[in-house]
Amino acid sequence: MDCVLTNARIMTCDPNRPGLGMIDRGAIGIADGKVVWVAEGMVATDDPEIDLGGQLVTPGLVDCHTHAIFAGDRANEFAMRAAGKSYLEIAAAGGGIQATLGPTRARTDAELIALTRSRLTAARAHGTTTIEVKSGYDLTIEGELRLLRCIARAADVSTPRVVPTLLCHVIPAECRDDRDGYVRELCESLIQEVAYHDLATSADVYCDEGAFTLDETRAILTAAKRAGLGVRAHVGQFRDLGGAELVAELGGLSVDHLEQVSDTGIATLAKAGTVAVMLPGACVQLRLPVPPVDKLRRAGVPMAIATDCNPGSSYSESLPLQLWLATTHFGMTVEEAWLGVTRHAARALAVDGGVIAPGARADITIWKCSDPAEVPYHYGANLVDGTYRLTDSGWQPPAGRSVR
Ligand SMILES: [Zn+2]
Repeated sequence: MDCVLTNARIMTCDPNRPGLGMIDRGAIGIADGKVVWVAEGMVATDDPEIDLGGQLVTPGLVDCHTHAIFAGDRANEFAMRAAGKSYLEIAAAGGGIQATLGPTRARTDAELIALTRSRLTAARAHGTTTIEVKSGYDLTIEGELRLLRCIARAADVSTPRVVPTLLCHVIPAECRDDRDGYVRELCESLIQEVAYHDLATSADVYCDEGAFTLDETRAILTAAKRAGLGVRAHVGQFRDLGGAELVAELGGLSVDHLEQVSDTGIATLAKAGTVAVMLPGACVQLRLPVPPVDKLRRAGVPMAIATDCNPGSSYSESLPLQLWLATTHFGMTVEEAWLGVTRHAARALAVDGGVIAPGARADITIWKCSDPAEVPYHYGANLVDGTYRLTDSGWQPPAGRSVR
């Protein structure tokens, strides 16, 4: 082994074990950046060893929904909202997504990469080892391609692994009189370029009031699927347009938000195995109704949780904070919340990760506590002791840890 982590309280999230797959005292053998074995009890080894003294070890967290590439801020909107203005009122007053376009378009590649990397580094400090980043704050064909290239370049050994997504966010103001023309350009030009140059693994459409209609969403996601991209959508944040049914029908990876979703929508998600991504930060900040977690649970829909890190409704890189919101505000159990930022989040992105099991990548977060409930319970404090992940230059054993 390259490294053995011993004397650890391990949350494996292994689907072959019940619940969170807890091992109260155990060890993990790591070689070539992969988990080779997971053992219960005290393990004697001649390999380089790190004694964790009973600390909690979990899969590295997976943040499956962010808009972390943008410039400018919208703190003024936060203040307006705190004074009682609604999301749609703020958008009508020139706020919202449109307010981020100008600052983002004006920045150079190097500036955008630096801004994005600082957010990715912050996410890593809060335990995230895989993070999805969507384009979406330029809206022109060339501009969206530029954002995706910058997303790829923002990743390095200090950041989480980055999973890029093409987001068709809204119809730009200059195309409002020709919505069909813009949608055609997305389908025939942008999606083809993205797939050809391998700039994203999936496409996402904001299917809601004020964004894309259900028919437009169908056209875009069908083109994306044909081009070999995974399919996802923002659905039902404000109004249920039938997006959940559509994504399920297309065999999509995830539907995200879901404050509004019908019983039929939930049933189709369960049947298709599509992940429901909960975004409690945005929900709470916009004072929206809570998604029907109980119905999703009873239907057996896998639930993930993400930060939705974006400049408007949820400027946070912290998944532990979302664990707190999910358990206190969304009625999710501690177990559901943890699976939501590990195994289920990896599934929403169709990537490996989110589990500690033989063969899995050794992306691991070590915590300054031993009880999984302590992370949401002690909210606002950063209990992360360290994160370790597989990079292009190999797996780095924990810095500052004594290896025997
Ligand atoms: Zn979003």
